[in-house]
Amino acid sequence: MADRTPKPFPWADQWPEIVDPRVRAAFAAVPRAAFVPEHLVRLADQDAPLPIGEGQTISQPFVIALMVQALELKPGDKVLEIGAGSGYQTAILCELTATEDEKPGARVYAIERFPSLAERAAARLARLGYAPHLRVGDGAYGWPEAAPFDAIIVSAAAPHIPRPLWEQLAEGGRMVLPFGEFDDNQQLLLIRKINGHMHVERLGGVRFVPMVSPLFDDPEQWAEL
Ligand code: SAH
Repeated sequence: MADRTPKPFPWADQWPEIVDPRVRAAFAAVPRAAFVPEHLVRLADQDAPLPIGEGQTISQPFVIALMVQALELKPGDKVLEIGAGSGYQTAILCELTATEDEKPGARVYAIERFPSLAERAAARLARLGYAPHLRVGDGAYGWPEAAPFDAIIVSAAAPHIPRPLWEQLAEGGRMVLPFGEFDDNQQLLLIRKINGHMHVERLGGVRFVPMVSPLFDDPEQWAEL
């Protein structure tokens, strides 16, 4: 198993907004260099997105930190991730939900559309000792067999809120998603389910690759904001 001893992460001094010590510890524990293509390893410590193949990117660490901090994850929470990409954020989620009696990742369900990316992500995660459930597919439909989820994190811009994701969110659960068309004015939304109702908070402007799914062609499959 690779070294996961916490060390100060490269952006520690630049993130005054990230105040949750568990989130900071998770970033200290996961080596980003292990999740970027070999020819870009020298750029892994930059707080910026990088290409990972298939026209996709590994997210900017600060944006991941904002998203996972908003989810208020506790050990043992069950979390669904749409768009695992490189697997880097998946590893962060494994750290934040880990309990003492299970392998880190036992409560993490991650979906990725591109088989090639999913395969690479799975290999990297396993090498570092993480054991999330990872599958290839269209994340807009969620993972019904494993629902409900305490938290759902969407890493690609969604033009609508997929109804299946809303339905698979537990009562009291939190979902973060970049909302808007690609290249457009995307807003990061924090959605909470309180007494079955949707409460929405805007966390700011972001820029993500598009979430691709036939679900968006069917208005019946959209959850109303
Ligand atoms: N957090 C990831 C982000 C990867 S980019 C990282 O840091 O590596 C977003 C990913 O979402 C891409 O890999 C893309 O293939 C994936 N994606 C887009 N639409 C999807 C869908 N409908 N279902 C699953 N994955 C999707």
